[in-house]
Amino acid sequence: MKKNNTKSGNLYVVATPIGNYDDFSKRALITLNKVDFILAEDTRKTGLILKYFNIKKKLYSYHEHNEKKNAKIFLEKIKQGYNTALVSDSGTPLINDPGYRIIKLCRKKYTNIKIIPIPGPCSAISALSVSGLPTNRFCYEGFLSYKKNKRIKRLQELKTEYRTIIIYESTHRLLKCLYDIKNIFGKNRYLVIARELTKKWENIHGDNISNLIKWFKLDLNKIKGEIILIISGYKILSKKNLELSPKIIKTLLNLIKELPIKKAIDITANIYSVKRNLLYKFYIKNK
Ligand code: SAM
Repeated sequence: MKKNNTKSGNLYVVATPIGNYDDFSKRALITLNKVDFILAEDTRKTGLILKYFNIKKKLYSYHEHNEKKNAKIFLEKIKQGYNTALVSDSGTPLINDPGYRIIKLCRKKYTNIKIIPIPGPCSAISALSVSGLPTNRFCYEGFLSYKKNKRIKRLQELKTEYRTIIIYESTHRLLKCLYDIKNIFGKNRYLVIARELTKKWENIHGDNISNLIKWFKLDLNKIKGEIILIISGYKILSKKNLELSPKIIKTLLNLIKELPIKKAIDITANIYSVKRNLLYKFYIKNK
């Protein structure tokens, strides 16, 4: 059916609860009620929520396996004037969920289509907000690779990341992942595990990685449900390092990721006119 409309529709990106239905915002419900149809990652799951809130709306499937095709199809619908909502299984769409292609298409090619965020729950931000770790700077990593080599490589790159790190992890890989973090980041790195947020078995627990592994092993039931890891950023440990400014340390750490140690130290020493010896000592103490 073609809508007889010269004006494009709007595309609403609607966040949905990550467990507790009471977290559905009033504006999100109003939006889902007023659009012409909803693009849903899983029409069955979204159907259940809509039923709970007594919203009767046509649902179309939009997930990672049909996204390429459906982004184009539904873009045409929006251009014809259909107001459309995009939702994922839970939380904020596009945050490790489908939606990127259609937003990119609308934003780049059809700037007359209004893309309107309807903000709400996001598990990563919820976990970060209760972690007790610095929130002024953080990085979001999504899921690490399920392939061991790739996962190890990424963790090695993250070892000296000084911002708080957010990682999604599936329950069946959690212990393996914790062991990898321990081996690469060291046993003392502090980490918070946020599990089943907003649900009945919600649990948020922080400790150094060694203790966390022991804690999990005491009761493997803790490895059930949905899990997020919030890892403390890389810390400069020794007092002596205070002689090196954060800017110098950042340069050194960035260069170490790409170059042999000696070369990284030489370049940093030249840029900032600091003693190589000092940089080398810093490297030895913190590697
Ligand atoms: N878009 C979603 C959001 O905004 O929260 C994230 C989707 S991602 C595919 C799913 C992952 O998010 C889960 O494997 C888990 O790591 C995390 N997650 C989702 N809901 C959660 C919850 N209630 N408690 C803890 N982690 C959750």
